[in-house]
Amino acid sequence: MNTGFAELHIDKVRRAFGETVALRDLDLTIKGGEFVALLGPSGCGKSTALNCLAGLLPLTGGQILMDGRRIDTLPPERRGFGMVFQNYALFPHMSVRRNVAFGLSMRKVAKAERERRVDEALRLVQLTDHARKFPAQLSGGQQQRVAIARAIVLEPALVLMDEPLSNLDATLRIEMRTEIRRLHQSLGLTTVYVTHDQEEALALADRLVVLRDGLVQQVGSPEEVYAHPANRYVAGFMGYRNLLSVALSSSDGGTATVTGDGFTMTGVNRDGLTGGEAVAAFRPTDVTVADEEGENTVRASVEVVEYHGREQAVEARLPGGEALHVRTGSRLAPGDDVLFHVPRERVLVFAP
Ligand code: ATP
Repeated sequence: MNTGFAELHIDKVRRAFGETVALRDLDLTIKGGEFVALLGPSGCGKSTALNCLAGLLPLTGGQILMDGRRIDTLPPERRGFGMVFQNYALFPHMSVRRNVAFGLSMRKVAKAERERRVDEALRLVQLTDHARKFPAQLSGGQQQRVAIARAIVLEPALVLMDEPLSNLDATLRIEMRTEIRRLHQSLGLTTVYVTHDQEEALALADRLVVLRDGLVQQVGSPEEVYAHPANRYVAGFMGYRNLLSVALSSSDGGTATVTGDGFTMTGVNRDGLTGGEAVAAFRPTDVTVADEEGENTVRASVEVVEYHGREQAVEARLPGGEALHVRTGSRLAPGDDVLFHVPRERVLVFAP
């Protein structure tokens, strides 16, 4: 396994474009061999962070240290990182094999060694049989495999991937995701992966960094970020589609009871609130149809039902007019007046 370094320290890295601060004091330590995903919506600064790491953008402030040595002052080629982009960026007039060999040729790696490494990289991305083809003769997924082979053949200390799967259709995207995970497991290449797709980030990464407006919102394992989002914003991004406006009526230890328009709920008091306005956050999959009134039951009228195979995605209307999103195996129909239930440990109460 080539991990290249023990620790990459991104130390208060800042990047501004005129008045716009794209990245605010990003602090992050990446361990050799780790797969880190930078996750956030369009404009949150994730590509800026990647480009700063790659050396394609100079920093406005802060520094980047690899095992204690500053690297942010080095030009991109001297950092020796591999890059994989959304648009593949292959040479159209070169065969797959020559595309993959290109970086090694530039580095004057001897022919025998070059051939051996190209063969190995093509085998890893399962393109051995396509080596003589040209990019235009390949599917999008195959082209992206070439781009990945071209990056890993150089055995880089760090692989940087910027939304590499976003040009692929849904099925291929999931297939390639598994491929990337498998490659990472077998090669252990330290990877920083930029995506706006939380599912992709959860599936791939050892650690997630959730960004908003250039600021880190949460760093944690997929399990941590999924089950314990740090704030309302991360919760919304992690699939807590129900973000109901409520008022805190009482709090007791880690528990809060909140009141919305026509319902009362008890949940986990994530922000230690003692009163005032709040948001009750929970996932559509945590809502079930209740048999009888009780703790955390809410009545809502079903408006839209989408068929999703084993489940239905339901949008219902709460008494106060807010939408309630439900994912359920129960068969519901528009117009049904339904009593729903959310377990208290699944309701997170945040500051608004
Ligand atoms: P996307 O997924 O859409 O690429 P992102 O999260 O990668 O979004 P960035 O591209 O890093 O976001 O942009 C962060 C912020 O910096 C945005 O407000 C963007 O408008 C701004 N920005 C990025 N590049 C430039 C530039 N070259 N000149 C001016 N502003 C820029």
